[in-house]
Amino acid sequence: MLEIKSLSKIYGSKNGESKKAVDNLTLSIDGGQIMAFIGHNGAGKTTTLKAIAGIIDFDEGQILIDGIDIKKEPMKAKMEIAYLPDNPQLFEHSRGIEQINFICDVFGVSEKEREAKTEFYAKRLGIYDDLGGKISTYSHGMKQKLAIVCALVHNPKVLLMDEPFVGLDPVSSHELKEILKEKSSTGVAIFYSTHVLEVAEKLCSHVAIIKKGKLLCLGKMDEIRGNKDLEQLFLEIENEKNDN
Ligand code: ATP
Repeated sequence: MLEIKSLSKIYGSKNGESKKAVDNLTLSIDGGQIMAFIGHNGAGKTTTLKAIAGIIDFDEGQILIDGIDIKKEPMKAKMEIAYLPDNPQLFEHSRGIEQINFICDVFGVSEKEREAKTEFYAKRLGIYDDLGGKISTYSHGMKQKLAIVCALVHNPKVLLMDEPFVGLDPVSSHELKEILKEKSSTGVAIFYSTHVLEVAEKLCSHVAIIKKGKLLCLGKMDEIRGNKDLEQLFLEIENEKNDN
């Protein structure tokens, strides 16, 4: 469902220095899989997710969403994607429901479906009663919940999330885990970045570990972990590569 082939992204700077944020990254995620994307701060996770979502351009490689090339057919590819950024930019002067309706208009979600989906997800995340309020009056967690509802209302085939659990209370965090499991069981491919390894090891079928833009480790969560927990494995891999 999601294929990333030899992706590289270089950020340039005004003084001529450049930074290779993602270096020859190749991975794929089938429908029904949930892959955790983990790595230290600055490893290249957000850059990779933004490239997949078609928000930033990249220098080398190819990204296919259900077989559609994000560079060649960006609009068609984006119709199949939902992207939750690490710091969602919302229409602060609008009401929550207006933000959802805007997303539904963009993705062509019918009136009936948007009402049902909004109620379903917003109630579960505990934001339904607040949708009539101005977004500027929302707390950080409420904005995160609204952004998650916006990501779910149009039935994406590929769900990209950048640290989705940050800011959520324990109840909505639990609900989001359940929602992601349900989405994957309907064939959605889910790729999300996180620093919360305890959740990732329980929730995810697959894991990708990235360091300084390079993929260090990729595969099925159970096979990669063996009898270790994910935190232990992550620390070992980081140290191993530091020694080399
Ligand atoms: P974190 O866990 O802290 O969110 P990350 O793994 O998401 O980190 P990225 O945000 O992808 O990391 O950053 C990867 C590298 O690219 C870092 O060295 C960062 O400084 C650099 N970088 C990110 N955005 C830009 C930009 N717009 N211009 C220049 N360099 C950038």
